[in-house]
Amino acid sequence: MSLGPNPDVCGFMPEEEGRLLYELAKRAATFGDILEIGSYCGKSTIWLGHAVKETGRVVFAVDHHRGSEEHQPGEFFHDPDLTDEHGRFDTLPTFRRNIEAHDLNETVIPIITSAPLLAKHWQQPLGMVFIDGGHSLDAALADYRAWAPLVMPGGILAIHDVFTNTEAGGQAPFAIWQLALNSGLFDEIACEGSLRGLRRATL
Ligand code: SAH
Ligand code: MG
Repeated sequence: MSLGPNPDVCGFMPEEEGRLLYELAKRAATFGDILEIGSYCGKSTIWLGHAVKETGRVVFAVDHHRGSEEHQPGEFFHDPDLTDEHGRFDTLPTFRRNIEAHDLNETVIPIITSAPLLAKHWQQPLGMVFIDGGHSLDAALADYRAWAPLVMPGGILAIHDVFTNTEAGGQAPFAIWQLALNSGLFDEIACEGSLRGLRRATL
């Protein structure tokens, strides 16, 4: 299958990082399903979906679809095309259209809620967790604490927007990447742009 990039889908996943995400998901699919925190309009979800489509695995795509702080009206990353009839930020209709257009309805399972709420009710181990949700320290820490333990031995923890240089961006994803490395439970196996791939150590 020729995959190609998905330039038709708006979002925050440059092509080179998307390709690495795809490779990581392919590898992780031998262990289990994939869970993504922060889908936005589906750009990263589509890379993940294509990676596992032929394997029978699925991608749980978790997002309340109300946007992060930086997507709200008046903020730097606000896109006025992504608002509902009441002016509230809403990526769900666009996400849904994009997943359908890429023929991934049977591969991507959208979960429209906040990641911490879902975490309270989720026990199933995962082949891969991709953290790309809220970028406040509280949000990133909550995602790391809740979801990193669910990555199976041999599985992948991927973190987006890891900037080693404070000038380049916020430091919350960097902080949880450091926590994962220092835990002794994860080894870094790949890096592209701000995307980091960590593998959970086997017993
Ligand atoms: N992965 C996307 C970009 C994600 S942007 C891409 O490839 O383009 C971050 C997303 O995280 C936003 O859509 C926002 O709604 C979502 N988000 C932020 N905090 C969240 C939380 N606590 N639970 C679920 N989703 C959250
Ligand atoms: Mg991101």
